Amino acid sequence: MSKTTDLLATRKDLKAGMSAKDAANVMLEKLDRFSIPDSVLPAANLVAAGNIHGRLQVQAPPLNEDLRARNIAIFYKYIEFENTRDYENLEKLFHPTEFRSTTYFGGDPIAPRALTRMLRGLFRSFPDWYMTVSEIVGADSMGCAGLVTGRGTQVEEFFGRPPADHQVAIPTIHAIRVDADGLIIEHRHSNPFEDVFKAQVMAPQAEDVQAVRAQQGYDSEAARRAYEIALRAGAPEKDLAELRARVETGRRMCQTLLKETLRRCSFQAEPGDIYCKLHQTSGYGVDGIDEMVLKVDVRRRTR
Ligand SMILES: [Zn+2]
Repeated sequence: MSKTTDLLATRKDLKAGMSAKDAANVMLEKLDRFSIPDSVLPAANLVAAGNIHGRLQVQAPPLNEDLRARNIAIFYKYIEFENTRDYENLEKLFHPTEFRSTTYFGGDPIAPRALTRMLRGLFRSFPDWYMTVSEIVGADSMGCAGLVTGRGTQVEEFFGRPPADHQVAIPTIHAIRVDADGLIIEHRHSNPFEDVFKAQVMAPQAEDVQAVRAQQGYDSEAARRAYEIALRAGAPEKDLAELRARVETGRRMCQTLLKETLRRCSFQAEPGDIYCKLHQTSGYGVDGIDEMVLKVDVRRRTR
């Protein structure tokens, strides 16, 4: 019996809702001479015992080869449509109402057309941007991750950086999650344009620093969890309404990125729209951002 089969067999020991650390320990105990008591790594375990992101699948569905192949194919399609600037078909790959672009827009869903708007902005600065899949790192019934190299020449200011006359090549890991209908419900990767040494320090309670950063410090996971806990605890309607409003605030955030910070605009979208008043007519990816408009925007924010 192979080691892989052994590991799968141990999955019967895992329980829904188990913390990632407990699940990992159950797995480790099944392996000969490989057990790390908590006391040996107190600091590491303290970190691991935190609220690990809920999407870490302790009980992943059994591997289905057809779904795995499907997800790899969707991953390639996604890269291909970006390379050919086929925005119409690209948008069809994403779930219309439950797609999360965690890296740039955070934990609340965006409309596929908000993502293509952002990409139009990127390709305006890097007209020859082209990605190649170097390696499929992993794929299962739920998604696919691959090592992707993006190459391009920056011809206009982007994210505060002046244009350069040479091509850059940036390797990143891209990951997609796909639902039962074959629609992408999440895309994330390490933001290749971000200078980590300039990143603002996030609240220590934030689990998903990338998502919280993208939403200007708003933590959609924490807001959602607070509401669910209050609901289970039978909190009075007045409190529930307040927590619901907080969840709604994130979902209604304008679906535009600010050019200077590559973070999601923190204004609320206009009723019936996905953009705030300002970004209905200007903003990243549509026709560049008017410097005057940007200044007004910043002034409003710092008031
Ligand atoms: Zn906006």
